[in-house]
Amino acid sequence: MPVLEIYDVNQPVLRQRARKVGRVTSAEQRILDDMLETMRAANGIGLAAPQIGVSQRLIVVELDDVTYQLVNPELTDASDETDVVREGCLSLPNYYGPVERPVRVTVRASDRDGRKVRIKATGMLSRALQHEIDHLDGVLFFDPQRMRSLSDLRYEPPQPDGENADEPSDEQTAKRKSIPVVVSAA
Ligand SMILES: [Zn+2]
Repeated sequence: MPVLEIYDVNQPVLRQRARKVGRVTSAEQRILDDMLETMRAANGIGLAAPQIGVSQRLIVVELDDVTYQLVNPELTDASDETDVVREGCLSLPNYYGPVERPVRVTVRASDRDGRKVRIKATGMLSRALQHEIDHLDGVLFFDPQRMRSLSDLRYEPPQPDGENADEPSDEQTAKRKSIPVVVSAA
């Protein structure tokens, strides 16, 4: 499985609404597997197909040793309760900012074998799924509907120990950077 180039936020494909996938074939499975490999190589916890230049509704998320390879993921439910957590994106390396999102969501999708799945997610998984589904609609985490102000976006140089994870980083990193993980809760 090759590690692919990750497209940056200036590439038009990141702003397109990705196409729905018809049937899951070996072609889609190969893309999902390449995405997983690419995400792991970049120390990310999630990746959407447009980030490798493929405008199809495919995402991968890997958290706590659980791997999700999802086809046509859809948010079917979201909690009224929201929180604000620091996020980043592999398509905008080393930039982070506070993003408000529902705490709990339900996602309907097909898995890598084309079977229907329903995922009830909270915490980091909920947030990662929402971030990746946003990518399928051409929405980026620093857009006005996600981040209150672009001035909240901060550049943080990569750490010498190689710690440079995509998406919300751990509490320790946030503390070191003086950016609270939870800025507010509704
Ligand atoms: Zn992203």
